[in-house]
Amino acid sequence: MRKIITVVGARPQFIKAAAISRVIHEIGSVNNFEEILVHTGQHFDANMSEVFFKEMRIPHPAYHLGIGGTSHGKMTGQMLEKLEELYLQLKPEAVLVYGDTNSTLAGALAASKLDIPVAHVEAGLRSYWKRMPEEQNRVLTDHLSTWLFCPTHTSVENLKKEGIEEGVYQVGDVMYDVNLFYREVIAEEENQGKKRPEGVKLSDSPFALMTVHRAENTDEVHRLRGILEGVGAIPMPVVWPVHPRTSKILQASGITLPYNILSISPVGYLDMLALENRAQLILTDSGGVQKEAYFAGKPCITLRDQSEWVETVEDGWNILAGTNPEKIIQAYHQSMATHHRPRNPHYGDGHSAQKIVEILLTQIPHP
Ligand code: UDP
Repeated sequence: MRKIITVVGARPQFIKAAAISRVIHEIGSVNNFEEILVHTGQHFDANMSEVFFKEMRIPHPAYHLGIGGTSHGKMTGQMLEKLEELYLQLKPEAVLVYGDTNSTLAGALAASKLDIPVAHVEAGLRSYWKRMPEEQNRVLTDHLSTWLFCPTHTSVENLKKEGIEEGVYQVGDVMYDVNLFYREVIAEEENQGKKRPEGVKLSDSPFALMTVHRAENTDEVHRLRGILEGVGAIPMPVVWPVHPRTSKILQASGITLPYNILSISPVGYLDMLALENRAQLILTDSGGVQKEAYFAGKPCITLRDQSEWVETVEDGWNILAGTNPEKIIQAYHQSMATHHRPRNPHYGDGHSAQKIVEILLTQIPHP
């Protein structure tokens, strides 16, 4: 039996794992291929972790390292130590990591030092802003990986610029696979009269949806204040599921929210998709949410100065407003005035997970 260890730790990784773990489960067993899921513990609140495992039927992690809630260096270091022990004990033929968190880098580095080949899903993304923790994680992980699964043409080109051409596969975006799958689940639920999100009272009038959690926007409080000033001035209610990191900063800095913002706890993936479907506009600093806005055909205002998902900006669905209040208000008016732009299949055909697993099945060596 060939073994692959998948390392996850943060919300977007659970969502991506939902697609790949499902495929490994379906076709792995007949091919003598087994996945061992390891949760580092980077995200640990129930509504940031457990809810995704439950509602997306992700296999329960075989190992939970319980490392989270600490500084970047300490977290990455502790993960390295524990993952190395685990790899030595389990002797996997490969390790799979997703995206750009500390869990991604630790998972890849521990494997690479032991000469275990690494598969990186969501390879080649760049903001070209080196101070961004995610940029550091993704660049290093790409340079350690044997298989680089790129979601877009741009990400393949980005790798080329860094001299990485071997082992690069443009497979589409697993988040698009997940999106298509759960969009149908929600539509079916709605046919049966279920209205999401449960427990949140939303009127039928138009609203915007916002998420904010990037370190640059939470650790630099003036940026968070800029966002809230701009969003507070748009003539529309704004529903905001608040990430725990942002929640902490809001409390510590005593910021009062503008009256048009309804803050709620983070929601599960299905509730989030339902909110995205119902929203008129999406404001976010999240990578995943920018794409989901595009998938749903909703205009997006990105509360950052760069985006890795340049296609959404080039196609006119996403405006980079940063955190300047005037720019956010201007972007709001621009978004509301523009309609019916074409969207293009930049993110694949909804079968990315299948492609990734098939490549791994043919290439991972037998013990
Ligand atoms: N998301 C969610 N509940 C929320 C906010 C976001 O399920 O309350 C989902 C969102 O739909 C997307 C993913 O989390 O699929 C994005 O993760 P996040 O914004 O944490 O990270 P990023 O994509 O920026 O790496």
